[in-house]
Amino acid sequence: MVKKILKFGGTSVGTIERIQHVANIIKKEYDAGNQIIAIVSAMAGRTNELIKYSKDIAQDFDKRELDVLLSTGEQVTCALLAGALIKLKLKAKTWLNWQIPILTEGEHSNSRIINMNVSQISKYLDEGIAVIPGFQGISKKGDVTTIGRGGSDATAVAIAKLFNADSCEIYTDVDGVFSTDPNKIPVAKKIEKISYDEMLELSSLGAKVMQPSAVQTAMIYNIPLEVRSTFTDRKGTKIFDQQSIDYNKSVTGVAYSKDDAKITLIGVEDKPGVAANIFDPLNKAQINVDMVIQNISSDQKTTDITFTIKREDLSNTKEILKNNKKIKYQDIAYNDKVAKVSIVGAGMVSTPGVTFKMFKGLADEKINILAISTSEIKLSVIIEQENTLNAVKKLHTIFELD
Ligand code: ADP
Ligand code: ASP
Ligand code: MG
Repeated sequence: MVKKILKFGGTSVGTIERIQHVANIIKKEYDAGNQIIAIVSAMAGRTNELIKYSKDIAQDFDKRELDVLLSTGEQVTCALLAGALIKLKLKAKTWLNWQIPILTEGEHSNSRIINMNVSQISKYLDEGIAVIPGFQGISKKGDVTTIGRGGSDATAVAIAKLFNADSCEIYTDVDGVFSTDPNKIPVAKKIEKISYDEMLELSSLGAKVMQPSAVQTAMIYNIPLEVRSTFTDRKGTKIFDQQSIDYNKSVTGVAYSKDDAKITLIGVEDKPGVAANIFDPLNKAQINVDMVIQNISSDQKTTDITFTIKREDLSNTKEILKNNKKIKYQDIAYNDKVAKVSIVGAGMVSTPGVTFKMFKGLADEKINILAISTSEIKLSVIIEQENTLNAVKKLHTIFELD
């Protein structure tokens, strides 16, 4: 018998009618003779609403209680879906994080699934459909945990791995993975198949359609994924290892994110150890520094150092820099209205001139580049936020993705 993991995201279960529609998709798969584990997200907007409630009580709402609060979103959908399946005369049952249990490690709101008890559910699959909440688990101490925004994807992949499933299908509100966000750039094209590496870069650089840690786990354990639509019957996008993919294009997709901030330390003493003194306390505070640029000044004694961080870390970073007695600088400048735009493609490695083409394209649009970072299969630039869609459109066109 084929064992299928079917994950349904927030929009797919956003209303009662949609939950009933999802129940019908599951019924079709079940009636075809498959064993089914369904993973569900909270109804669209619910997690944000719960976060807002917590902030209305306290900006720094207790982390343990926040996880208890947020985990309820998925539990609601689970029960409604199981009820809808039962109404269709199917046998179905919810299994909550603590009932399985789904064991996690790490901090509240950013935990990782490390194991779960598969035996009871495996037995149950011979009789009925298991419905499991995404995005959550339980710590060794027995506390409810959550595994990061968009985490239901990671739950689905972890379950696919631990249950040794035959397929893992991610049902969402678009037809698959596109060359860029199809809701923002309508000429975006659906990608039929994409490697784990490229998908990991795209999702880490802002393509929300898959959560990065889910892709990473799939890559490590070689679990093929399919991203497809809940609302159409069209074929989705297959994500798997690279060997079997033909690269006839240098660039596979364009991603962007608007959650970065840029900091420049002006007139920093130019001597050995300065960079280490700047970044060491940031590292200790677990602030992730993304791009770093250093300019040599004309007097050769001082330098300007620019770096980017996540915008949510900006106030903490300012505070740490202010209190850092080991560094001297003349001035400091911040820009929290920046965006990161990236091109991703395994074909870039073998295509000369990609960098020039990207920079020329942006220059033609009079878009100023504030910082650059590269790897074998991606090229990212920081630009002013107001230019984001313009830049994405231009790059999408010049790399022949329209
Ligand atoms: P779900 O609730 O199903 O998990 P998400 O909202 O997390 O869905 O992800 C789907 C959304 O990702 C789409 O609606 C789309 O706007 C966005 N998206 C961003 N980049 C891409 C891309 N390259 N391909 C497809 N969708 C993308
Ligand atoms: N409900 C959670 C979120 O909105 C998890 C998910 O949807 O995957 O982030
Ligand atoms: Mg998602």
